[in-house]
Amino acid sequence: MSQPLFSVRALLLNSSYEPMRVVSWQKALVLWFQGKVEILEYHTVFARSVSASFKLPSVLRLKSYVRSRAKTHIRFCRENVYIRDNYTCQYCATRLSTKSLTLDHVLPVSREGKKDWSNVVSACRSCNQKKANKTPSEARMPLLKEPRMPNWLPLTEFEAGGVDVPQAWRQYLRSAQA
Ligand SMILES: [Zn+2]
Repeated sequence: MSQPLFSVRALLLNSSYEPMRVVSWQKALVLWFQGKVEILEYHTVFARSVSASFKLPSVLRLKSYVRSRAKTHIRFCRENVYIRDNYTCQYCATRLSTKSLTLDHVLPVSREGKKDWSNVVSACRSCNQKKANKTPSEARMPLLKEPRMPNWLPLTEFEAGGVDVPQAWRQYLRSAQA
């Protein structure tokens, strides 16, 4: 209730429930008036005009699927790799805290392995040491899954972007990570 109106924004989901972006409450209402979205969640704040007051949407879902032009760019950084991998060593499946995790280059740097989404995974220290300068098949340490750039927007990206993440958004952001 005490939330200032200007800060009220809505999370826009694709029809597939993938988070797309954050829009202003004005944009959210325009999309709704145009019949392009359904409203899944509301904020607890109201917008008032002379004749009416209406609840502001918090989470919107597009009625028809929008193929995103370019895949949403997810910043490549240590924390986002951990999030993608669910803080789990991709070799032994142990779940660890940020402090105990390391980044492992699937194809080692010494063999010109790149530092990107498809070549870097989360690993515990012992797996990282054990794998050393080998590929997963040489080390006989198969990966839990093929590393790729994620197609979700991690919650922390919103937080890092200074967006105050409402409780109602979290289930959609989390489910998008699975
Ligand atoms: Zn491990």
